[in-house]
Amino acid sequence: MSSAAQTLEINQLREQIAGSVFTAEDAAYQEARLAWNRAVDQYPALIIKAKNAQDVVAGIRFARQHGLGVSVQSTGHGLHIAANDALLIVMADMNAVTVDPAARTARVEGGAIWQDVLAVATPLGLAPLLGSSPGVGVVGYTLGGGISWLARKYGFAADSVRWIEVVTADGELRRVSPTENTDLFWAVRGGGGAFGAVTALEFDLYPVPTVYGGNLIYPAGLASDVLHRYREWIDTVPDELTSSVVVMKFPDLPFVPEPMRGLVQVFVRAVYTGDVAEGAALLQSWVNWRAPIANTFAEIPFSQIGTVSSDPEDPVSAYNSNETLTMLSDQAIEAILGAIIADDSPFYMMDMRHGQGALQHKKANPSALSNRDTKIYLQMGGAAFSPEAYKRVQSAVQRLNANLRDSARGGYLNFMSGPEAKVRVQSVYPPETLARLQAIKREYDPENLFRFTFQFA
Ligand SMILES: Cc1cc2nc3c(=O)[nH]c(=O)nc-3n(C[C@H](O)[C@H](O)[C@H](O)COP(=O)(O)OP(=O)(O)OC[C@H]3O[C@@H](n4cnc5c(N)ncnc54)[C@H](O)[C@@H]3O)c2cc1C
Repeated sequence: MSSAAQTLEINQLREQIAGSVFTAEDAAYQEARLAWNRAVDQYPALIIKAKNAQDVVAGIRFARQHGLGVSVQSTGHGLHIAANDALLIVMADMNAVTVDPAARTARVEGGAIWQDVLAVATPLGLAPLLGSSPGVGVVGYTLGGGISWLARKYGFAADSVRWIEVVTADGELRRVSPTENTDLFWAVRGGGGAFGAVTALEFDLYPVPTVYGGNLIYPAGLASDVLHRYREWIDTVPDELTSSVVVMKFPDLPFVPEPMRGLVQVFVRAVYTGDVAEGAALLQSWVNWRAPIANTFAEIPFSQIGTVSSDPEDPVSAYNSNETLTMLSDQAIEAILGAIIADDSPFYMMDMRHGQGALQHKKANPSALSNRDTKIYLQMGGAAFSPEAYKRVQSAVQRLNANLRDSARGGYLNFMSGPEAKVRVQSVYPPETLARLQAIKREYDPENLFRFTFQFA
């Protein structure tokens, strides 16, 4: 197609949709192509900032007609595969949320972030199953599983989904639910964004107005002791308690105050949903064991749940990876601490979340979610301010993974980065689940339009 014809067709698309269309010639393109994770440096052929489901339908039909792949982005917190020469559909303006307090459900548009849901649900005493950061997108998080601070009590966020509206690669808007397009309903919950662009979904909320939560901070010298104690402790706690132990190393970077650079601290982080005194008693056993440097535990309104992890709100450049572990073996503890504490380590964070509880209970509506009985979700994070730094973290992840073989069982979709979408995704599922995902992908997206996300083949 000549460039004049192309311009004409792009202008027709502009007139057809309620949202905006940008090419590299538009001033707004540079801002629109950014992901929250700045490690993604992408140059799409075309960007649509969608305002409604019909914009998404029009975009996907346009992409098919012109042989473009499609990448769907709500915030850019997630998997980072650059949508070069593709159509990037940015969902961020589709962020409406409505809550039905009687049914205890929330209906959100495809680009809503968790803060949008908290703002509407928590004044009604209702809590969604968001993760550590309210800035993360509802859809990307939920399709990958979704491990929240209420996870051991209420399970994966994906298990709480009632229905989803999704535009598939043929440009059709489909509703998927336990009774409609049941194969797709199975696949997207746990299979991620490879099957279409989600324009809306509805999920359950829970009556949790406040929680008891916070952090105990210990010095680096106690890191090994804390991990060994954590391993024993989690076998004794009830499902009302969801916890993690996080080893943080302040990076040697200009924005970190000089005395803090390279400093390692260990955080015992937890949220208890239930009687405050019971939660406090569970955490008191740590304080009795060793006095922490700081103790932030308190009863907090659920609207403030983001303060438990205090994840960064501003954009970062990071490479995250993960391993699911059957146990925190002595070898795993040594490997994890060695990997982050080493002077030349590119990691700034190792987060070990306690799984099981309600996460392992299969729900009435089956889904592609796998490895439900994982005991520890290990997330590793490293700064990736340059392509070289990105590669350094990748190599360190591979080295650590090799040292975790005695307890590793595969990955968790939500904590994967970039190329892992192709090379590690198979480790997430048992063979029969993977084969079913491949078959459903072939049926709904035979040309692999949605190729900037998880690849099952
Ligand atoms: C600071 C931080 C904290 C986190 N905490 C947790 C946590 O506690 N628990 C947890 O389970 N995970 C957590 N995650 C991981 C997070 O769930 C994933 O990164 C998730 O993919 C982010 O979704 P997003 O929509 O914000 O990101 P995006 O980068 O916009 O999207 C990621 C992928 O999701 C898919 N997607 C997004 N929107 C749509 C849509 N509307 N339709 C179809 N597909 C879509 C696409 O395939 C896209 O590539 C965290 C990540 C970060 C960076």
